[in-house]
Amino acid sequence: MKKHQFRPESLMMSYGYHPEWSEGAVKCPIFQTSTFEFQSAEKGKAFFELAYGLRERREGEKEGLIYSRLNNPDLEILENRLTLWDKAEECAVFESGMSAISTALLEFLKPGDLLLYSQPLYGGTSHFISEVLTQWGVHTLGFHPEHTMAEIIQMVERSGHSGRLAMIYIETPANPTNTLIDISLMRQIADTFSDGDRKVYVAVDNTYMGPLWQHPLKWGADLVLYSATKYIGGHSDLIAGACLGSHELIKRVKTLRTFLGNMAGPWTGWLLLRSLETLKLRMEEQARNAQQVAAYLAKHPQIEQVHYIGLLTEQDGAQYEIYRRQCSSPGAMISFNVLGGEKEAFCFLNHLHLVKLAVSLGSTESLAQHPATMTHAGVPPAEREELHITDNLIRLSVGVENIDDLLWDIGQALEKVKALKGEGERVGG
Ligand SMILES: *Cc1c(COP(=O)(O)O)cnc(C)c1O
Repeated sequence: MKKHQFRPESLMMSYGYHPEWSEGAVKCPIFQTSTFEFQSAEKGKAFFELAYGLRERREGEKEGLIYSRLNNPDLEILENRLTLWDKAEECAVFESGMSAISTALLEFLKPGDLLLYSQPLYGGTSHFISEVLTQWGVHTLGFHPEHTMAEIIQMVERSGHSGRLAMIYIETPANPTNTLIDISLMRQIADTFSDGDRKVYVAVDNTYMGPLWQHPLKWGADLVLYSATKYIGGHSDLIAGACLGSHELIKRVKTLRTFLGNMAGPWTGWLLLRSLETLKLRMEEQARNAQQVAAYLAKHPQIEQVHYIGLLTEQDGAQYEIYRRQCSSPGAMISFNVLGGEKEAFCFLNHLHLVKLAVSLGSTESLAQHPATMTHAGVPPAEREELHITDNLIRLSVGVENIDDLLWDIGQALEKVKALKGEGERVGG
């Protein structure tokens, strides 16, 4: 009989945990411990030999539990479950998305190296690249999703550091504009600058679409990064991150994690295991709601433009083509421009009842915010304009609420924006 391959959603309740480890408990307990008892001094010695890479692993030998900064059952089970969605060899979880990102960047970039990155990036990542990595002597070069492969190659060559290009780091869809980047094209650019003994790595922050709707490793990426605070956690009640890739690369990332000490704790690990059981249900419902919200906004007279990849059509050319090839769902992140400017955008945000006015995304509750003055307030105004992060732009993360309630809430807040205009006209005469 052909071996049956269970899908990831079927394995989220059980994979990597054996009830006999814990008195038959169906659910993995919280291993709330900092340290682990060795059965003998010889076993403890053997665990350390492997942890420090002092010798090769013997046939059938497993890494032992030593100390929760190095490994903990809740984290290891969580890491194993996370690999299933992206079909990654290995995963490392962190205490935040930023710690996953900063640890990966520090591991693979050395002084004198060049980092090529897409713009706009998540604010924290952007700050780490421009304010921290540069202090360590890393050269950085940003490009926009609109740039062609030839233009990007030319920019790298003109930077004077093309021989030291070490990594291409991207976010797609870009936050908050939802512009898409072709991951396989990034692979091609990386290969152009790789040679026999030096591989240029491609890293993708997949927080916006993952781990369900976009699988960067499949398109040639070497590393996938997540803020697990978002869809993976999904309930706005924890901060965590993850980095996935090959055994070889993740082993390097985990070694640096051991010494930075920025792994997640067992309680966060346990909460994430619980979140993973409903990941697919939540994300699919969020995307279903988002498609209806986007369609509603696109027809609304108070809306100038809606940026949602589910609204792309053949007329959008390459963007549409990337969406159809690279993403399996339009997702649940929508940005839109209200008619007017900051005043109108704020009026909309201040009058929402069900949708919360807050940053973050990917959670069960819908969240709305104003990128120009909130998540992207640190982007210089000229650059903000170039990236289309305008004063009338609102970013909405759609949750799992009843769709009629969501449409009612958005509709009544837009009515307030319309009334504001009416007042303005009356006052203005
Ligand atoms: C939130 C976020 C991060 C940072 O993650 P934290 O868990 O807040 O540290 C990084 N990238 C993207 C795209 C995000 O949305």
